[in-house]
Amino acid sequence: MKLINNVSLVLKDNCCGCSACYESCPTKAIQMIPDEEGFLYPLVNDNLCIHCGICLKKCDNSELFLSETSILYACWSKSEEIRKRSSSGGAFTALSKIIFAKKGIVCGVGFNAEYDEVLHKIAKDDVSLDDLRRSKFVQSNKYHIYSLIKDILLQNKYVLFTGTPCEVGGLRSYLGKDFKKLITCDLICGCVSSPKVYKIYIQYLRNKYHSSVKSVNFKDKRNGWREKSIAVEFENGKEYYNSILDDDYVVSFHSRYNIRPSCFCCRYRDLKRVADLTLGDFWAVEKYNSLYDDNKGTSFVMANSSKGNSLLLECKEIMNIFRMDVSIADYCAKYNWCMCKNPTSPEYFKRVKFYNDLERLPFNLLSKEHLGIIKEERKKRKLGTEK
Ligand SMILES: Cc1cc2nc3c(=O)[nH]c(=O)nc-3n(C[C@H](O)[C@H](O)[C@H](O)COP(=O)(O)OP(=O)(O)OC[C@H]3O[C@@H](n4cnc5c(N)ncnc54)[C@H](O)[C@@H]3O)c2cc1C
Repeated sequence: MKLINNVSLVLKDNCCGCSACYESCPTKAIQMIPDEEGFLYPLVNDNLCIHCGICLKKCDNSELFLSETSILYACWSKSEEIRKRSSSGGAFTALSKIIFAKKGIVCGVGFNAEYDEVLHKIAKDDVSLDDLRRSKFVQSNKYHIYSLIKDILLQNKYVLFTGTPCEVGGLRSYLGKDFKKLITCDLICGCVSSPKVYKIYIQYLRNKYHSSVKSVNFKDKRNGWREKSIAVEFENGKEYYNSILDDDYVVSFHSRYNIRPSCFCCRYRDLKRVADLTLGDFWAVEKYNSLYDDNKGTSFVMANSSKGNSLLLECKEIMNIFRMDVSIADYCAKYNWCMCKNPTSPEYFKRVKFYNDLERLPFNLLSKEHLGIIKEERKKRKLGTEK
């Protein structure tokens, strides 16, 4: 009997889809294939697998956590335009500009040409960077980005790699060693959602507005940073704009039906980080200093290594940077729990029914059937906190 020594031994709940196994396989025996919910998982071709165990080693993240003490900052770009075009305070753009000045490249998450898929991409200048700005509430497809990044690092160029903690972990695990010119930056990540649900939603909007999509913004700030809204522009000049409390796709994300199973037991959800820098929304920053919140977006930035800290401080000409003497653990426990606490998973049968109906019902009816109560609850909670 053949002894199995590959990622087919990894339980589905423990697979975050980082793709490090897929990129590392020496015989190209692994493909990333969507399951019935649309999340990518490795599939091993038995005829090609030599059971070397490399994929299993790359799946282990225990050696990746950094040991330096993190320093917390509140930051916002000095450019009003950049802040408007960013999810939080625009820290990502400031860091990217420093990398471009060093003739390096930036890797982050953007859209495909049809706006119905989210993927990791490379930007070499300010123009191509705009696609990578702003949070997309969908799990990105990594394709062959890790090997591309390795090639660029081997050319001795600077690389800023950004993504969720598991994507940064995936890249570092794939590379297997440190590169002086690689700076990694992860996000405070609540969870990621299904590429299939997103694709079906965009198709539903295309049909409803009789047009292809020109842009998607999950964090439109026209009514302020706290008044979270989604905006979709269409090629025919029309626009869909809605509060995230009422948008069917974002509510499906918040309902947790539309969340990758591994996010409920995330192996990266920790105050100890795998990236040189961690970015987030500095919600409730006004509780520490009222001058740091003007409702235009303030970035939470954790420097987790001296390399990350040096790059951040190089941004001081273009970004306001204030060191915060605040316990990160206390802050996260009170105002931004995603960094240390897993979300609770919805009942299994309700989730199965949601995905069965996804194939069957148009999105507005799917939402009516599965998300109505959740929408009402979230709206009531918002009204309660505003009183
Ligand atoms: C799915 C998701 C959940 C998040 N949850 C929280 C949260 O609970 N609390 C919190 O404080 N912050 C959260 N964030 C982070 C926050 O929304 C901002 O992305 C972050 O503060 C950076 O904002 P910015 O203004 O510096 O730059 P922006 O220009 O807004 O930067 C966008 C950055 O996010 C990356 N990115 C965008 N979409 C994705 C994606 N799907 N997967 C991986 N990387 C992506 C881009 O590559 C870029 O680096 C989340 C982000 C995402 C994508």
